[in-house]
Amino acid sequence: MRAAVVTDFTAPLEIQERAVPEPGPGQVLVRMEACGLCHTDIHAAHGDWPVKPAPPFVPGHEGVGIVEKVGSGVTNRQVGDRVAIAWLGHACGHCRACVRGWETLCEEQQNSGYSIDGAFAEYAVADADYVVAVPEGVDPTDAAPLTCAGVTTYKAIKVAHIEPSERVGIFGVGGLGHLAVQYARLVGGEVVAVDVEDEKLELATQLGADHTVNARATDPVAAIEALGGLDVAVVTAVIPQVFEQAFASLRRGGRLVCVGLPPESEGPMSLPIFPTVLKGISVIGSIVGTREDLAEVFALHALGRTRVVSQTRKLDEVNEAIDEVLSGKTPARLVFQF
Ligand SMILES: [Zn+2]
Ligand SMILES: [Zn+2]
Repeated sequence: MRAAVVTDFTAPLEIQERAVPEPGPGQVLVRMEACGLCHTDIHAAHGDWPVKPAPPFVPGHEGVGIVEKVGSGVTNRQVGDRVAIAWLGHACGHCRACVRGWETLCEEQQNSGYSIDGAFAEYAVADADYVVAVPEGVDPTDAAPLTCAGVTTYKAIKVAHIEPSERVGIFGVGGLGHLAVQYARLVGGEVVAVDVEDEKLELATQLGADHTVNARATDPVAAIEALGGLDVAVVTAVIPQVFEQAFASLRRGGRLVCVGLPPESEGPMSLPIFPTVLKGISVIGSIVGTREDLAEVFALHALGRTRVVSQTRKLDEVNEAIDEVLSGKTPARLVFQF
């Protein structure tokens, strides 16, 4: 089988011919149909973050495909099932976080395409308990971006506890942001989309954003203040300055939801204490979502409540696709089709 492999943090990915892996006990072998390219895959390939993966490894955590084989002891999956391989590849199932429904915070977790090989390959093995069923009626090319971009922004909107009519800013309208706009609307938010590309802001309007702000053309904080300020700001961008702008756009009682993860070299964001205290601001970190969250994301999509905007590429084009994403111009998600 063919796989896109990170051999070194400074080298392009290599397309390698590898043996199809065998599913071990509790695992399934998945024949990949589609896998999205997430910004996290690029950070993984470049070793951008404090905890680094160990090359050689296969990135990819928006994998969708068909179960071809099941390992010993697997009773909950069958050959022929369509499943998604998400970032949360495995969690312990018995720590405090897991038991409380926060498996995404498990300290024993394994992450697909990072600590274990992911889905940038024609076949991948995965923990049968941690793949998520893709329902009938959800196209695999749509299911792939939902598996990370979808569940991540869905969870970010959930943890913000948005009341209908609250004003919600989405900073960054890319693979994540275009879905965040839709989830913010689904919970009744008045949506403000912020980006630096007019094309992406037009897309946000098509997807239901009530206002758009081009942060290159205008000061986003002043523009949002003119609207009355935000109750919730969700930041999917990967630049600390954008987090600071989002914070400054909040009105009293506001919540800043941090989602995007800048490279370590970008340094921290600054959090001014006085406005945090005086305005009663909450700062919330939100990391992907649970298996149940992903099942909800798929259910909403099957009901026709969300639209995934993507373009397809071949796995051979992985390095070109990475360059495209880094240019910031690509509207929404790139998805490898197998
Ligand atoms: Zn991701
Ligand atoms: Zn755990």
